[in-house]
Amino acid sequence: MSACKQCRYIVQTKDKVCPKCQGELSEKYSGMVVILDAERSEVAKIVEVNVVGSYAVKVR
Ligand SMILES: [Zn+2]
Repeated sequence: MSACKQCRYIVQTKDKVCPKCQGELSEKYSGMVVILDAERSEVAKIVEVNVVGSYAVKVR
């Protein structure tokens, strides 16, 4: 899996660019949060995302 360097979205494909923001992907990321309900999730507010999915905590 790879994570986007810009929005931290985790993709499970071998794509080279993020499907959300076209940002560069990196395999060097740590931590993962899963947003199931972006509207109500407190975690979503903390990581500042508004789309359901998996996000890396840190991307290098
Ligand atoms: Zn992205």
